[in-house]
Amino acid sequence: MESTDKDFSPSMWAPLLGVLFCLFVWGPGKVFSQAFTTTRLADGFDYPVGKPNGDGYYIFRGFSPNGHLGEDWNGNGGGDTDEGDPVYSIAHGVVVFSEDYKRGWGNVVIIRHAYRENNGQIAFIDSLYGHLKVRAVKVGQQVTRGQVVGTIGCGPYRMYAAHLHFEIRKDLRVGMRRELYPRNYQTYYVPKQFTDSRRNLRFEDRLVRVPINTFLKSNPNRLEVDEVNPPDLTIANPSPETVRPAVPEQVETVIETETQPEAATAPAKSKSLFDKFLEKLSNPQ
Ligand SMILES: [Zn+2]
Repeated sequence: MESTDKDFSPSMWAPLLGVLFCLFVWGPGKVFSQAFTTTRLADGFDYPVGKPNGDGYYIFRGFSPNGHLGEDWNGNGGGDTDEGDPVYSIAHGVVVFSEDYKRGWGNVVIIRHAYRENNGQIAFIDSLYGHLKVRAVKVGQQVTRGQVVGTIGCGPYRMYAAHLHFEIRKDLRVGMRRELYPRNYQTYYVPKQFTDSRRNLRFEDRLVRVPINTFLKSNPNRLEVDEVNPPDLTIANPSPETVRPAVPEQVETVIETETQPEAATAPAKSKSLFDKFLEKLSNPQ
C-alpha cells in the first residue's frame, strides 16, 4: 500500500481537480439547450397600420440601402394626428423583442414570422415596429395577424412627429444591432414590396418550429430562453419540415456558435486531461 500512497500524492490530485473544475465550469448550466420555439405559419402579410390595407396612412419616407432601413408610416391627417393609433402585427408570429430601447428608438417590438416561400421552403423574417407610444405585447407571446402590438408614438423624448418606423429583416441576427450587418438587401426586405407580393398565402393551419436566441450575445436585449414558454407541437403527423424547417445557413451558424462552443470544448479538454491522468495512473513514474 506504500506505492498507492505515493501514487496519490497531492501533486497527483491536481489534474483530477482540473477535470472536475472544467466539468463544473462548462457544465450543462452554461449550454443553451433550447434554440427553437413554435409559432403559427403565416397565411399572408398585411400593412402594420390602417388594417389590413394601410387605409388612411401613407409612406412618407421609404427604404434606402445604407440609408433608411425601413419605411416611415404616417397618418393622412399629418402632424401628430396619428399618435396613439393602433399598430398591428403584419402576420402570425411570436414576439422576440419588446422593450423601451431609448436612444433614437424608444419603444420597439420585433415579431418573428414563419411563412412558406414560393419555392415551398419555410422561411423566417423579423418585423420591427419602432417609436411606439406604448407596447402591447411581451417577449415570447404568440400574436396573430392583425393583433395590436402597440400604438403610434413620437419616439423617445417626443423627438419626432408621430409616425411608425417599420422594418422587415431577412437576417434574424440583427435585433437592435443594425450596425453589425450589411445595411442593404442582403439583410433587409423593402417592407412594401415584401408585403405586396405575399398578401395572401395558402392557408395552412399548422405550427412550425422557429429559431430563437439568434440575436448576438453582445445584444444587451438578447432573448433569453427562460422568457419563452414554448407551446407544444400539436400536429398529429408532422411533416419533415415541421419537425425542423429549413433554417437559413447564417442562422444555423449563429445558433451553432451560440450553443456549441462550451459544449464542444469541454469534453475534448477534460478528456485529454483525464487521459493524461489515466496514463499517469497506469504508468506511475
Ligand atoms: Zn424611420
